[in-house]
Amino acid sequence: VTRNPHEPEFQQAVHEVLFSIAPVLDAHPQFVDGGILERIVEPERQIMFRVPWIDDSGRLRVNRGFRVQFSSVLGPYKGGLRFHPSVNLSIIKFLGFEQVFKNALTGQGIGGAKGGSDFDPHGRSDAEIMRFCQAFMSELYRHLGEHTDVPAGDIGVGAREIGYLFGQYRKITNRHESGMFTGKGVQWGGAEVRTEATGYGAVFFAQEMLGVRGDSLDGKRVAVSGSGNVAIYAIDKAYQMGATPVTASDSSGYIVDDAGIDLGALRQVKEIDRERIHAYTAHRPHARFIAGRRPWEVPVDIAIPAATQNELDEPDAHALIAGGVRAVAEGANMPSTPGAVAAFQRAGVLFGPGKAANAGGVATSALEMSQNASRQRWSFADSERKLQAIMKGVHDSAFEAAKRYGHEGDYVVGANSAGFERVAHAMLAQGVI
Ligand code: NDP
Repeated sequence: VTRNPHEPEFQQAVHEVLFSIAPVLDAHPQFVDGGILERIVEPERQIMFRVPWIDDSGRLRVNRGFRVQFSSVLGPYKGGLRFHPSVNLSIIKFLGFEQVFKNALTGQGIGGAKGGSDFDPHGRSDAEIMRFCQAFMSELYRHLGEHTDVPAGDIGVGAREIGYLFGQYRKITNRHESGMFTGKGVQWGGAEVRTEATGYGAVFFAQEMLGVRGDSLDGKRVAVSGSGNVAIYAIDKAYQMGATPVTASDSSGYIVDDAGIDLGALRQVKEIDRERIHAYTAHRPHARFIAGRRPWEVPVDIAIPAATQNELDEPDAHALIAGGVRAVAEGANMPSTPGAVAAFQRAGVLFGPGKAANAGGVATSALEMSQNASRQRWSFADSERKLQAIMKGVHDSAFEAAKRYGHEGDYVVGANSAGFERVAHAMLAQGVI
């Protein structure tokens, strides 16, 4: 706390991980003696930079850019870029820290990083978005590369922004280096299923958790928050698994559609019209818009928070429990507060933390890197099969680790322990660096 003042999100993430891995440290004193803990909470490198750009009225604007390269012990730094006005060093550090263990848990050769800017894309023209992305990459490019650091999208960074960022990197470096960015368009080096992967993966993870209790998603009501990339494909896959998603949200409030969210209408509002969520009710007049609130007050069997950190607190968790929730799979990063997680676990609700439940996105990014390196293209069906197998692997690693350390059914302990063990063994092997 004294070393990282004014970084509450980073402190929250570190506390959660270190608290839950106590049984691992007891079983492996060499991790403590080898100074793993002191090193693992300190990023290998933090980059902060000025991003000056000109808006449509000719006015100069200045934003702040970040890239926190947390760990490259398992592979090149890997993690998304977030453009949102709330972005600061604490948020990027918490996301980078989480990413290290998530990436380890996928079993692939990728390190952990995160980056972004306090730039707000809402209400900006396409030309302004392009100029901002070009200005951002004009500085960041020197720290990236397919063997060094490979960014991807996150909040506010979707297909359009990735295109502009990649284009600027290619121009400055004079290299068409496909493997330096993931989430690219499928026509120019992107992988099938990357766009869908995080949302699909969270639903696969929920299905795996339910399967342990002989249950499934079939016939269940689902609450989803957010209405961006993760939320849309979580809704899509929930339908394919026989469930009915009934909510979606953005920072203005949420919609509830008891007949089931009309995915076509939601995509029209959010991806084409780039409107606020209440516009959905113009397409579906029977649906309700609830301003300024979150969807956790709607009675459901399954909850998939897919918007942002700390969007589901302890009172929200009690509301979900009272409404009969059986499983929570985090599509977003750290959406549930520590009080909410404890409430779910006390009530016996299956709880899949983001580090495990949303790992499908970065795992598919690693598949994109493999395809770029070998100049191959795998089909949608093949890639989705791989994603499903990876999510089963992530689930089983977390489940087995929790059991091994005497916390059967606790996916927080399981995911943190399995990810940490892999990183810690690699750090010990590679010496004091
Ligand atoms: P998008 O930008 O596509 O969508 C974000 C959604 O969350 C929007 O509906 C947005 O609403 C809402 N949201 C963002 N900030 C807030 C806030 N402060 N309060 C309320 N709602 C908010 O992002 P993604 O779908 O890509 O990301 C969602 C979450 O999933 C994030 O936590 C991200 O880190 C995580 N994640 C994403 C991965 C990916 O592959 N994309 C991979 C792994 C995790 P509004 O427009 O009103 O801001």
